[in-house]
Amino acid sequence: MTEFLPKGLQLPIVATLADKQQESPGIYTLHLALETNSSFDFAFGQFNMLYLFGLGEVPISIMGWQQDLLLHTIRAVGRVTQPLVALDIGAQLGLRGPFGQGWPLHQLEGQDLVFITAGLGCAPVVAAINYAVENRSKYGRIVILQGVKHHNDLLWQPQYERWRDLGDCQVLLAASEEKKRKYHWRLGMVTELLALAQFDANYCAVLMCGPEIMMLAALKQLAKHQVHDKSVYLSLERNFQCGHGSCGHCQLGPYFVCKDGPVFHYPQIKSWFGLAGV
Ligand SMILES: Cc1cc2nc3c(=O)[nH]c(=O)nc-3n(C[C@H](O)[C@H](O)[C@H](O)COP(=O)(O)OP(=O)(O)OC[C@H]3O[C@@H](n4cnc5c(N)ncnc54)[C@H](O)[C@@H]3O)c2cc1C
Repeated sequence: MTEFLPKGLQLPIVATLADKQQESPGIYTLHLALETNSSFDFAFGQFNMLYLFGLGEVPISIMGWQQDLLLHTIRAVGRVTQPLVALDIGAQLGLRGPFGQGWPLHQLEGQDLVFITAGLGCAPVVAAINYAVENRSKYGRIVILQGVKHHNDLLWQPQYERWRDLGDCQVLLAASEEKKRKYHWRLGMVTELLALAQFDANYCAVLMCGPEIMMLAALKQLAKHQVHDKSVYLSLERNFQCGHGSCGHCQLGPYFVCKDGPVFHYPQIKSWFGLAGV
């Protein structure tokens, strides 16, 4: 039966945990070696379904491909993710993917890029930032706005420092639950950083990922800054089982987050985004 399914929807391939890095309490990056031993084609923003034998399968964004290993950063929250991050080096898991639509980075060449993220929402965005930084001449100004609750929650701190030191790259960080300001950090929500961001509102693309409540607030702020809806792309996160529009759990109006997203062009989903029960 599996030969009739498109690539990626088939039975999981076996991945071996080659390395594991703790990023913060409860968050780990897994480095996976694939049994196929070939490169893995994916677009930044796509995700894989990671399967722990006998326990279940979860969607996890693809962070990157480094030295023949696939990188996934995972927050341990429940039944599958907790045992996933607790695996020992050499353990095996199942992997299906890549799934979904990623960021349209090639279409956005020439424009200023504004990345807005909060919490672990940064996983699918960080891979896109790395691509833009490595292909610096293809894009205009790069603006990175990241919000967390506490300073120590920021993952990949050295990367943020490196991006800050690049020419024509503005990095603004906000901590919403800190009492004291730490040198370049602002206190407050990530959306408040937009007032300080410098980019061309008429020729920019905004790439956002994080809790929907944050993205709704950011959309209001962006409208105040004259950023048009057609300049905005969002990565959504929903609870689902299949990854190819069959289980129906992630339906959003006429779309399925798993196969039509997780990255959407905002005008495409504007009528349904933020509404309960659609
Ligand atoms: C497209 C996509 C990309 C994702 N990328 C990442 C990633 O890169 N790293 C990462 O750590 N997580 C990511 N997630 C979230 C991850 O899939 C869930 O945390 C995971 O499915 C939880 O499974 P569990 O069995 O461990 O938890 P469960 O035992 O099923 O649930 C534990 C708790 O988490 C809640 N929960 C479960 N799934 C989700 C979800 N999708 N969104 C919000 N809350 C949820 C449950 O309601 C419950 O309260 C992504 C989700 C999607 C849809």
